[in-house]
Amino acid sequence: MSNVLIVAEHLNGQLNVPATAKTVSAARALSPQKIDVIVLADAPDAIAAAAAKIDGVNEVLSVANPANAHPIAQVLAPQIAQVATGYSHVFGPSTTFGKDLMPCVAALLGVAQVSDVMAVDGPHSFKRPIYAGNAIIEVTAPADQAVVATVRVASWPAAGEGGNASVRAVNVDVALPTHTRFVGLAAGKSDRPDLQSAARVVSGGRGVGSEENFRIIYDFADKLGAAVGASRAAVDAGYVPNELQVGQTGKIIAPELYVAVGISGAIQHLTGIKDAGTIVAINKDGDAPIFEIADIGLVGDLFTILPELEKALG
Ligand code: FAD
Repeated sequence: MSNVLIVAEHLNGQLNVPATAKTVSAARALSPQKIDVIVLADAPDAIAAAAAKIDGVNEVLSVANPANAHPIAQVLAPQIAQVATGYSHVFGPSTTFGKDLMPCVAALLGVAQVSDVMAVDGPHSFKRPIYAGNAIIEVTAPADQAVVATVRVASWPAAGEGGNASVRAVNVDVALPTHTRFVGLAAGKSDRPDLQSAARVVSGGRGVGSEENFRIIYDFADKLGAAVGASRAAVDAGYVPNELQVGQTGKIIAPELYVAVGISGAIQHLTGIKDAGTIVAINKDGDAPIFEIADIGLVGDLFTILPELEKALG
């Protein structure tokens, strides 16, 4: 029987509920005996209380330590590796946080990580995408070792919030490295919804033309209550910061509505929106590949179409 330990992602005292709840869904697909969540923070109480509400969680292990004030993989990993004894699986979300942390955990446990789990076929068999999502492979982990995996959050629904798990304070006595320390966090400030978990996303591409022109994307997104994304070409051209990049080397997202504006639809971009609900494409080139996957296609100049749509939205 499987016992799963899930690493909770959080920032500024707030649990990343979608990432954690989707990781719980992947764990539930194992039909495990229990699912525990570990919260490592300097002040974990509120985060642990939020994790305890996720359906399917049996127990939340709360590890309070001033060293856990910032999510430094090299500091968190030894603590997780110690607590992981007795668990058959250790899962984290396939977000920037999880992609940074889980390989360190796997290395300390002496196992190879399973990445980007999109389906569970058995306790040691998983499906994951390769070649920018163009092929799906079956990965089989050794049955006699713990499985350390990142979960492709876009592939899983979030577990509900009706849970009532117990919270237990855990003391972890392990030497923590000092070679990696927190210097500062550089992040764009935005009041808009978070790109990775938003229900609606409006993305702009090279066709938008400049940083100034991107205002039209922000305005339209605000009208829809949407997050803003971008193609790599738009990021590389300096129109927007790279945390907005959607795609193979950016964020993998699964909004209900995705509006691609002035984006051609390169395979590396499409891999980021594979699980999106309705895809709307606005492009002046009727032969652009984005129209092959779009549910709704509008052929025309974005600088004409977006203001018209905005007006229609009232
Ligand atoms: P373009 O391909 O230049 O398309 C611009 C589009 O805008 C065109 O279709 C044009 O018709 C349209 N347009 C122009 N003006 C207007 C107008 N006024 N009105 C309407 N439409 C207009 N790309 C990503 O996006 N994300 C990734 O994560 C990513 N990872 C990559 C990883 C690797 C290893 C490699 C090799 C590439 C990666 N790329 C990624 C780059 C990708 O291959 C494409 O180059 C990129 O997605 C193109 O961006 P774009 O569609 O904005 O630009």
